[in-house]
Amino acid sequence: MHCLRCGACCKETEMLLSAEDIERLEGKSYSKKFFVRFDRAGYAKLRNRLGYCVFYDVKKQRCKVYRERPLGCRLYPIICDDIKGIIVDKICPAGANLNENKIKRKGKKVIKLLEKIDSEAKLR
Ligand code: SF4
Repeated sequence: MHCLRCGACCKETEMLLSAEDIERLEGKSYSKKFFVRFDRAGYAKLRNRLGYCVFYDVKKQRCKVYRERPLGCRLYPIICDDIKGIIVDKICPAGANLNENKIKRKGKKVIKLLEKIDSEAKLR
């Protein structure tokens, strides 16, 4: 899939973060306070600022931490819907080009990531 860099997925992000994601971004000298918000259930999510993820460069239309970005962002636009399960997120204009094999393969990684994030949230 070729990302069109439209920024739709980085707008008002609800992206969940694993402890490993947080550690990796802290390793790049970003403070947790700058990019992480915790919800009441203990889930860590990316912070937004002015309507976009704090790491999104609106002018250049790119991610400032592309190499270190969270695993959820790497697997996107494959997401897990509460009702439908593994789907391609409709807000991504390039998602329609993904083939079934890729969706299945990335879908397994999304499930594994969510299981890990769930267990981390329970510990907080
Ligand atoms: S980390 Fe990068 S790819 Fe992920 S939502 Fe933020 S700007 Fe977008």
